[in-house]
Amino acid sequence: MAYVIAEPCIGTKDTACVDVCPVDCIHPRKDEGNFADVTQLYIDPVECIDCGACVPVCPVSAIFPVDDLPEKWQSFTPVNADYYKK
Ligand code: SF4
Ligand code: SF4
Repeated sequence: MAYVIAEPCIGTKDTACVDVCPVDCIHPRKDEGNFADVTQLYIDPVECIDCGACVPVCPVSAIFPVDDLPEKWQSFTPVNADYYKK
């Protein structure tokens, strides 16, 4: 399993989740060159250890365990994974 960042992050992108992730699997960080180019942040499904630490700090409740991702945001599972295939 893994956690997934969904639509509410778009336009918020405050990186609160990045600061609490123990394995640095949420990107891009503010210090990465492409930060300004992305509409949202993405979780690496391979590196995520399912700790859930990012969920309560998100101000817009954009992060879900993949199994609990609302139906309307199912497309965000591949969207998060695809970011790491580049
Ligand atoms: S669930 Fe834990 S490991 Fe996965 S992205 Fe969130 S903080 Fe990082
Ligand atoms: S805390 Fe939520 S809104 Fe902020 S960057 Fe992470 S997923 Fe996006």
